[in-house]
Amino acid sequence: MVKDVSIIMDIPVYKSTLIKTTELLLTWIDQGKMHQQIVTANSEIIYKSKKDSKLRKILQRAALVTADGMGVVWASRILGDPVPERVTGYDLLHALLQLGNERQISTYLVGAKPEVVSAVAFEIKRLYPNVNIKGYHHGYFDSVTERELLEDIKEKQPDLLFVALGSPRQEFWISDHLTDLPVKVAIGVGGSFDILAGVIDRAPEKWQKLGLEWAYRLIREPSRVGRMAALPKFALSVWKDKFFRRH
Ligand code: UDP
Repeated sequence: MVKDVSIIMDIPVYKSTLIKTTELLLTWIDQGKMHQQIVTANSEIIYKSKKDSKLRKILQRAALVTADGMGVVWASRILGDPVPERVTGYDLLHALLQLGNERQISTYLVGAKPEVVSAVAFEIKRLYPNVNIKGYHHGYFDSVTERELLEDIKEKQPDLLFVALGSPRQEFWISDHLTDLPVKVAIGVGGSFDILAGVIDRAPEKWQKLGLEWAYRLIREPSRVGRMAALPKFALSVWKDKFFRRH
């Protein structure tokens, strides 16, 4: 577990930039560290972990939790222990593959629809030709297919496992299986495969810089409105923590 963290609602969030986080993870891979679970956490998942003790334990025991959303960066500032920037699953995926391309790391992809994950594998091969994609599998499996999938990962022994099953499902899945898998680093990357395959588009950079990626997503996918309800609750909780820590 990393030491340089900002504690947000009892969750240790790594205080580092995208590039430093990427370098750290590649160093772990070089060193042969095994079973390192990485969580890219937004405010929704951190808020959820307040009420869900299984999820909270996963986040607290993860090798590293990054600040995936602007809400988490904001909370760290309010609490007086700021993280320097967002480190999203999507950016981390690209940065790891880009730097990993020079080191010829290997990877395995799990999640999203069959046509999406195969398009992602194709795109990664195109962008990062030296990354060895040891296998990929869609994220809509039953228990029989899941067993086959786990056997395949065991056989292929990838350095890096990307899991895109949505949050927190992917966090539970990684936590349930990682100790049995010969994988060095496993990361939950949410909807990143859909963006990489071009099924959904990411917010323009301007929106991202203004911290409004969530609003862009809400406009594009109005069905997410229920999930967004966690945001004001998260904000209120952060203010409460700030008040009670000070007095
Ligand atoms: N997904 C999956 N299996 C499932 C449910 C979802 O592989 O049983 C995939 C889905 O196709 C999508 C991703 O998980 O690619 C969820 O993306 P979302 O943007 O909802 O991620 P989140 O915002 O939850 O991180």
